Amino acid sequence: MSVLANFDPEIAKAIQMEGQRQENKLELIASENFVSKAVMEAQGSVLTNKYAEGYPGKRYYGGCEHVDVVEQLAIDRVKELFGVEHANVQPHSGAQANTAVYFAFLQPGDTILGMNLAHGGHLTHGSPVNISGKWFNIVPYGVDAHTHLINYDEVAELAAKHRPKMIVAGASAYSRTIDFERIGKIAREVGAMLMVDMAHIAGLVAAGLHPSPVGHADIITTTTHKTLRGPRGGVIMCRSELAAKVDKAIFPGIQGGPLMHVIAAKAVAFKEALSDEFKVYQQQIVKNAAALAEGLKKAGFTLVSGGTDNHLLLVDLRPQNMTGKEAEKMLDEVGVTVNKNAIPYDPASPFITSGIRIGTAALTTRGMKEADMEIVAAIIGMVLNHPTDDAVKAKAVELIGGLCKKHPLYV
Ligand code: PLP
Repeated sequence: MSVLANFDPEIAKAIQMEGQRQENKLELIASENFVSKAVMEAQGSVLTNKYAEGYPGKRYYGGCEHVDVVEQLAIDRVKELFGVEHANVQPHSGAQANTAVYFAFLQPGDTILGMNLAHGGHLTHGSPVNISGKWFNIVPYGVDAHTHLINYDEVAELAAKHRPKMIVAGASAYSRTIDFERIGKIAREVGAMLMVDMAHIAGLVAAGLHPSPVGHADIITTTTHKTLRGPRGGVIMCRSELAAKVDKAIFPGIQGGPLMHVIAAKAVAFKEALSDEFKVYQQQIVKNAAALAEGLKKAGFTLVSGGTDNHLLLVDLRPQNMTGKEAEKMLDEVGVTVNKNAIPYDPASPFITSGIRIGTAALTTRGMKEADMEIVAAIIGMVLNHPTDDAVKAKAVELIGGLCKKHPLYV
């Protein structure tokens, strides 16, 4: 019996059950992934014991000689990965990274032009319930009602009219390529800073499968746990001239001691992301999303923007006369995990929604390929097109079992 199971069987049991859930269900949440055992080993290490306020070589605590090595490796690797001059690897999360950037460069009341949450943006890009929306004057931009593509003309018009101090680009539920170059030009024309939050697509950017924001954005933030396939956390990147402000905003600005065990796990993930295998993995994520999109269209579903260029897709369930909340529950019952998600111009509330968001990063980590995605699309089609048919549900469960067995997660 493990030490944990012996001391705290309730927690050990919950961890074991979560492991089984991950192993035996189809994980299609677009913001999730499965890290390697090396990443988990680094995160579950003695580094969790260490306080290290400050930065490598400039700490407020003794005994930092080894964690300095760890943090410097994480910094060097992520700089190499994205080709940036400076990186801060201490943000505890993506939200912390974004908040620190606002704290570094804005004053309360300043204007931010950010993508509307209801059109695919993130809470931290100006939602009224987030600190970004409470402390700043938010002007939201969105997608075109027909194409569902970001309306860059609208971004330019709003920027000219409102003269924001900062424009925020990046999204949580946008399935198409984002034109960072164009938004960068708009920002420069009005004298605004551009922050690109590439949390969702960071792995694709690292592999050269989505245009990089480097050279167009003043500041780049990302999470490390989505397509990048690292531990849960954040990173901020920028040019050297902005480094001091960014670093001060994280510590002592909005955080205390860094999570050194998480930073070690980030370093491991960055090393993995620098490999050729990682590029192949990212290519497969994109191929799988395209195959899933085709399969879902064949099964009669309508996709927001008609398809995908990246790792995710949004299904508009209005033609099925079904809400996102209902679909999420039905799929969960058979073992397919997705999240309900607002679609652009959604008539339903954010808690109900008219859509679901589906991503392929996690299943691709399990080794699934296009042929498997056809089966996944067929499963989703069977379940949502025959919501009351128990025989269909049983068939879906059987197919899911087969896919999970064929592609074991942690062998
Ligand atoms: N930025 C974007 C674009 C995201 O999609 C997310 C998370 O979903 C975040 C930031 C926030 O990351 P975290 O949950 O680590 O705070």
